[in-house]
Amino acid sequence: MTNEKEDMTDIPEVPARYVPPANPKLGPGYLVISCPICGARHQHGAGNPDNPDYGPRVAHCQSGPGGKYILIPENRA
Ligand SMILES: [Zn+2]
Repeated sequence: MTNEKEDMTDIPEVPARYVPPANPKLGPGYLVISCPICGARHQHGAGNPDNPDYGPRVAHCQSGPGGKYILIPENRA
């Protein structure tokens, strides 16, 4: 029996800073990180301003191997 469940242990956790939108009409804001893969700054949609949607993301790397990471609240890092 094959286990196709992804092994999460190799995926780095990255502290993310929640940046609220300047205007609530612009959306839920962003989670901003310093990428552990390429070193650049990436931002991901926060999903919900009252309870930002942390968790796994596909890296937004412009160069390099790319990959995935798991966003965690920066005050829990
Ligand atoms: Zn990156």
